[in-house]
Formats: sequence, C-alpha cells, structure tokens
Amino acid sequence: MDEDVARQLIHQKLHEGRLPRSRAVDIWVAPGDGQVCDGCGTAIARKQQIVWGIATRDRTSLQFHEDCFQIWDAERLVLAPREPDGGKSPA
Ligand SMILES: [Zn+2]
Repeated sequence: MDEDVARQLIHQKLHEGRLPRSRAVDIWVAPGDGQVCDGCGTAIARKQQIVWGIATRDRTSLQFHEDCFQIWDAERLVLAPREPDGGKSPA
C-alpha cells in the first residue's frame, strides 16, 4: 500500500474515532500471518512485521503493519492535546 494512502486512512480513522488517540503500551513485534491491519485495512503478510499494542485509554488492542504503526503514532500526536492520556510516552 502507498504510504500516503495509508496515512490518509489512518488520519481519517483517528478523526472518526475508529482508532484511539492515546498511546500504546505492551507493544510487541512479530512476523505477520495474514492479520488485517487496523490502520490501512489490508492483510499483514508473513514477510512483513506486525506490531501489536494496547491503547492506554480504553485498553483496545491494536495491530498494525510496522509502517502503519509509525504513521498512527505520529498522526495521533497531532490530535493528542485534546486527550488527557495522549501524551508522548517517555523515551
Ligand atoms: Zn497497514
């Protein structure tokens, strides 16, 4: 998937509340196995990495392509100031 397309989709989902704006914890990475990415909505192939995380605000579990996770993590911070739990995680 084109990164710009993925970014637009993720941005839209953040605006519509279909993706959380709070940061993710318990993040882990593994090879994909055909799971559907919460960001771009396409399958995560075995040759790709899947990133799992738990949103701190509502404990939603998330699964993303590695690239989509990076996009989500950047895009949500643009919207985060309105969220009490949306701050940057400590480095
Ligand atoms: Zn994706």
